[in-house]
Amino acid sequence: MAQTAQDVLRQIHEDGIELIDLKFVDLHGKWQHLTVCRDLIDEASFSDGVAFDGSSIRGWKAINESDMAMVPDPNTAWIDPFYSHKTLSLICSIQEPRSGKPYGRCPRALAQKALNYLGSTGIADTAYFGPEPEFFVFDDVRYSSGSGSSFYSVDSVEAPWNSSRLEEGGNLAYKIQLKEGYFPVAPNDTLQDMRTEMLLTMGSLGVPIEKQHHEVATAQHELGIKFAELISAADNVMIYKYVVRNVARKYGKTATFMPKPVFADNGSGMHVHQSLWRGGNPLFFGEGTYANLSQTARWYIGGLLKHAPSFLAFTNPTTNSYKRLVPGFEAPVNLVYSQGNRSAAVRIPLTGPSPKAKRLEFRSGDALSNPYLGFAAMLMAGIDGIKNQIDPGDGTDVDLFELSPEELARISTVPASLNGALEALDADKDYLLAGGVFTEDFINNWITLKYEEVQQLRQRPHPHEFVMYYAA
Ligand code: GLN
Ligand code: MG
Ligand code: MG
Ligand code: MG
Repeated sequence: MAQTAQDVLRQIHEDGIELIDLKFVDLHGKWQHLTVCRDLIDEASFSDGVAFDGSSIRGWKAINESDMAMVPDPNTAWIDPFYSHKTLSLICSIQEPRSGKPYGRCPRALAQKALNYLGSTGIADTAYFGPEPEFFVFDDVRYSSGSGSSFYSVDSVEAPWNSSRLEEGGNLAYKIQLKEGYFPVAPNDTLQDMRTEMLLTMGSLGVPIEKQHHEVATAQHELGIKFAELISAADNVMIYKYVVRNVARKYGKTATFMPKPVFADNGSGMHVHQSLWRGGNPLFFGEGTYANLSQTARWYIGGLLKHAPSFLAFTNPTTNSYKRLVPGFEAPVNLVYSQGNRSAAVRIPLTGPSPKAKRLEFRSGDALSNPYLGFAAMLMAGIDGIKNQIDPGDGTDVDLFELSPEELARISTVPASLNGALEALDADKDYLLAGGVFTEDFINNWITLKYEEVQQLRQRPHPHEFVMYYAA
């Protein structure tokens, strides 16, 4: 049930809350926060916002005025479990303090614009998103005894368990081998209790939790949450990462959502299930067609496949993202769709006869995607597909990882680098600009910021270059 400002103010009073932690997402998908005393929050705070200086937030300082306002969403209130003092957390969107307009570079406000645009087209009134972020958990060097040898430095070119080095204390947990993590019981699986604590903590904050398990790679994990409406689903991803990182910290570990932290093992993705609804009715089910897909769903897929090279700049937004997108590690590089086949970028999960369950899963994205931007960009691609009736062709049911080079050459693939995705975004952005959802300012600023990351990496010698060239 929707909460109002009065409900939150009542909770603050009744629960004896002293502090309010205002959290907002920056461009890169990281939460920033400001803690205020409870007297500073009143009903007007929920419409006019709470003022702050936006000039130090990466990518926002171009605004002439650095004064900004964060506007808390009353539906996002929970007591922060990681603080010792009773503190109510609220997720905020950013608005301009004078005009009261949503700030054009606020990702959460942008996602709301995408939903408004969806409604204005008459296609649908609800977009459900079901994200599946994966992550690695490593020992934190500050806590481990000895040299901290089990922590992977970013310079590792080989997974350390491949080395013949003997481990201090012995290998008592029968370490999981490359790609064999899905999913043996203890003692191979050493982090059951930690994952359970992550899952239940998320649940206590209102995230609809479903399951937890070890993932395919050594030291890789996943928590399962239920789908939700687009903005709630993105809020849930933020809570997921916050809880995962902080519970890991409590156990003396670190968690990373970096897509490819270890060479030669699976990387971490963030698959995203998607469906559109109108008037309480699902729009993606069609009786007796390939994968029981409606014409609307087929066009949505057509839009996703056409614009993927461009929106990967949002769903796979780092230089490291493209080290995951290589064949052989369950990370789809081929822009095709398929029923059940996990090597396709778009998979149609096998669901029962219920039209409500019919959805598609975009599998190429990763969890460094800012979820508000990634979901909004995919939704815009899907809407473009429906509006322009973009045909996705036939489903591809063969294992794409097994195709010959000639066969593969006929299938389009994802860009090979962040630079490639940024070029594709620059060349194909009209579908994002529709309805004023993404603006030219937003996209140009994004390309500039991300190109700086490309340059930073390009200018540094890579550890593997020493393997290939040092003695060449
Ligand atoms: N880790 C794989 C990826 O990179 C997915 C594995 C799975 O969930 N089946 O997308
Ligand atoms: Mg999963
Ligand atoms: Mg998974
Ligand atoms: Mg999946």
